Amino acid sequence: MPIIARTLTQSNQLRRRAERFLPGGVDSPVRAFRAVGGEPPFLSRAEGAHLYDADGNQYLDYFGSWGPMILGHAFPPVVRAIQQTAADSSSFGASTAAEADLAELVTRAVPSIEKLRFVSSGTEATMSALRLARAFTGRNYIVKFEGCYHGHSDGLLAKAGSGLATFGIPGSAGVPDQIAQLTLTLPYNDTAAVEAAFATHKNEIACIIVEPVAGNMGCVPPQPGYLKTLRDITSREGALLIFDEVMTGFRVAYGGVQELSGIQPDLTTLGKIIGGGLPVGAFGGRAEIMDKLAPLGPVYQAGTLSGNPLAMAAGIATLSHLEQNRASIYAQLDQTATAVANGVAAAATEAGIPLTTNRQGAMFTWFFTPNPVRDFATAEFADTNRFAAFHRGMLDRGIWLPPSQFEAAFLGAAHTTDHVHQTIAAAREVFAALKP
Ligand SMILES: *Cc1c(COP(=O)(O)O)cnc(C)c1O
Repeated sequence: MPIIARTLTQSNQLRRRAERFLPGGVDSPVRAFRAVGGEPPFLSRAEGAHLYDADGNQYLDYFGSWGPMILGHAFPPVVRAIQQTAADSSSFGASTAAEADLAELVTRAVPSIEKLRFVSSGTEATMSALRLARAFTGRNYIVKFEGCYHGHSDGLLAKAGSGLATFGIPGSAGVPDQIAQLTLTLPYNDTAAVEAAFATHKNEIACIIVEPVAGNMGCVPPQPGYLKTLRDITSREGALLIFDEVMTGFRVAYGGVQELSGIQPDLTTLGKIIGGGLPVGAFGGRAEIMDKLAPLGPVYQAGTLSGNPLAMAAGIATLSHLEQNRASIYAQLDQTATAVANGVAAAATEAGIPLTTNRQGAMFTWFFTPNPVRDFATAEFADTNRFAAFHRGMLDRGIWLPPSQFEAAFLGAAHTTDHVHQTIAAAREVFAALKP
């Protein structure tokens, strides 16, 4: 598995040009590779499990556009659906049949969702779900957990994992204290902290929003019984439970974490996979709650491009394929992800490098720490310098990992056993070079 002599001449030119017009040369901060060093390649195309940069270098993709590309890039049915739909116009700003088609697929997969509304990003989905939860309960406080990321709306940026963890930013500048104060941020996987918050703020907490398997501090699954306790406490206290399944929906299982755990939230937010790589989000839940939305109810929420026909078409093509091949695809994803996660972990052990591997289905993180990672505090023990060196070494060998210790890796249905072997061989070399 030799180091590939990559030239990044084109990429570097494109980056310098982008930096003239875009802050940091990017439209989303983690893309700038600041946490891992080195120059981010500019991508020009992708197919199946492989990415190609502007200089023609090939990479095996372990981030899948941060989750959506579960069927691989340029999956022919998705490409066809987008092309055929575009020929009939890319936007109307009026209703089309496709919205109910995708909604029906989603509700069939996620039975706790009786009704839903489409938006254009995960951020919009969580932001709107919170507004709805506050209106439904008549309460103002929300509970979120350290290291969980729910998009970048003002009230959700406290200790929000993902890019903020990557850059060591506790919250964001520009969020008024008055707004931040309404967000109670508690440690993940700690039920006593939740009890205490509800005791202190009796009848004031509108909802708990949680990544039911966390992915934005790296992959951190819930402890046994944790989600059930969140369900019990919110039911008892008259608060809503919101599962943010933007990442986990159709990823850890077709029906998301709620299928795996059997725990039903009041509201669910979705995104990523349901748009098949186009910009989509959705929030949904019990009809009684969803019917508070305008035009039926008093909660305003709208979007010029919401339910966009191209996005609906890509989503329908993706979910129909997943639904029809559900058993085989998720079994294969689990098998491939287990093989690569454990294979790389074994290579680290051989090299004497302490590594903790967390995985849930085709979503996993190699934490450079010997200790179990069960919340943000334990995730932060990870050696981010060592992760950065690992990331660079893997990239030099044509393996593209997410560019931060605090982002989950993904693989998709296009990943094969050969790809897994290639990855493990590359990791073995990188670990040998990293040896203390
Ligand atoms: C990606 C993500 C979001 C935000 O979605 P965007 O489409 O990037 O706005 C929200 N919640 C979770 C759990 C996510 O992984």
